[in-house]
Amino acid sequence: MNTHRTDVAILGAGAAGMFVALAAQARGLHVTLLDPLLDSPSNFALSGGLLPAAGSRLQREAGVTDTPEGWLEDLRTYAPGMVNERIAASVAQALPHAVDFLLDQAGAPLRFLPDVVAPGHRTLRFHSVAPASGAAFHASMRAAVASHPRIRLISQAASLMRDASAYVLDIAPAEGAPAQRVNTAQVVLAGGGFGANAQMVARHIPAMAGALNNGSRTNDGSTIAIGLALGAQLWGMDGYQGQAHTNPGGATRLGMAVPSLGGIMVNRRGQRFVREDLGPSALAPHVLGQSEGLALEVFDAFIESRLGDHSAYQQALAAGRVMSADSVEKLARLAGVDPQALAATVDDVNRFAAGDQADPLGRTAFQRRLQAPFKASWVTGALSHTQGGLMTDAHGAVLDAGDAPMAGLHAAGGCAAGLAGRGAQGYLPGNGLAQAFGLGWRVAQALAA
Ligand SMILES: Cc1cc2nc3c(=O)[nH]c(=O)nc-3n(C[C@H](O)[C@H](O)[C@H](O)COP(=O)(O)OP(=O)(O)OC[C@H]3O[C@@H](n4cnc5c(N)ncnc54)[C@H](O)[C@@H]3O)c2cc1C
Repeated sequence: MNTHRTDVAILGAGAAGMFVALAAQARGLHVTLLDPLLDSPSNFALSGGLLPAAGSRLQREAGVTDTPEGWLEDLRTYAPGMVNERIAASVAQALPHAVDFLLDQAGAPLRFLPDVVAPGHRTLRFHSVAPASGAAFHASMRAAVASHPRIRLISQAASLMRDASAYVLDIAPAEGAPAQRVNTAQVVLAGGGFGANAQMVARHIPAMAGALNNGSRTNDGSTIAIGLALGAQLWGMDGYQGQAHTNPGGATRLGMAVPSLGGIMVNRRGQRFVREDLGPSALAPHVLGQSEGLALEVFDAFIESRLGDHSAYQQALAAGRVMSADSVEKLARLAGVDPQALAATVDDVNRFAAGDQADPLGRTAFQRRLQAPFKASWVTGALSHTQGGLMTDAHGAVLDAGDAPMAGLHAAGGCAAGLAGRGAQGYLPGNGLAQAFGLGWRVAQALAA
């Protein structure tokens, strides 16, 4: 058996794991990064790749004034009583550093996104690579990880044991190769959430049992189970990121921007049923509550013209998921919705947009009147990503049942407790990557060199 020592072993090479690896090696640490499913897309690779950071250098250079405190206030307003206060302020303050590090040292050519308006955020604060997509963001970080001599990337499964003072990882031997053992005093759990584990979803989020999961199959809850077996406690297990703009089947989605630009949603009867500016996660249960769990998202060519840089929308368009017509009635016939009812709904919405009448559903921002040519796409509510997990302190140290940090054990990303829990409501857009990179930054700084 080949045995070696490493400063830190990280389980999971998605957003959190790769980021901790890069930030830890920048401090001079030797890192062993293990992921048995390196070739399956992680949630990071499937994501929109939209990272919020308030007070970043890129945001300042774009002329936007913002602060971590502003983001924190937005989070508390959006998710009252549901915020994970153990980590929220620490994550908010870490994010500008994380963005700088990604840009300057982690091989991710981040840019500020001047067009991404997101419900619940008081100002523009999203960043991504070009094109704005999780796949491109993931690929740039994977290339950076692969090029660092202090990071050893291993694609075999490993079992983790703990003895009195250290951790031992036994790595399943690759064909024809000797078995390997890694000894380390520090472990970071970063294997993502449990959205692909049907049993865990049924137990912790019964409302989404059997719902479409448009997240990664690699998010099987295995690193949460490892933490639990070592004595960790859990937080916020019923919280999840819903995705109300998912095309049926789950292969494509429209992204969150259509309502922010003035789009609406109707049911099979051509009637609106919710204020569409709630946010993509909070909207998901409302869509699922409609006949067949479906809603028709209705918008127009002007809105589509603003989505050129939104890779999720462009993929849905390329896959033929968007219908187009030069009148509302023709659009309704294409979609199989009552034409008169849809025309009446669009007339109402245009009155709300003109300020002639208040929306009985309570939406105040419609941006502009919808105009021909019209567009529409059927969507459903999906479970994208779970938000509950191993409870940590503000530095990502995993806490035991007595609230004490567990020696040498850290967590970040989907396997760690998220920024806000309870159903789909607590998920302010961007909470996923904000926690993965913000808490990931804290973990990397807290590791002993
Ligand atoms: C459709 C979709 C869109 C999204 N869009 C956004 C967005 O635009 N902005 C945003 O902020 N968030 C978004 N998210 C959420 C975001 O993707 C996640 O918050 C983020 O990827 C979590 O990072 P992670 O590293 O914990 O998990 P992942 O990125 O999923 O990575 C986990 C990795 O761990 C590996 N792994 C699993 N188990 C083990 C194990 N036992 N040992 C070793 N390795 C293991 C997996 O193979 C995987 O590579 C989206 C999610 C989805 C599904």
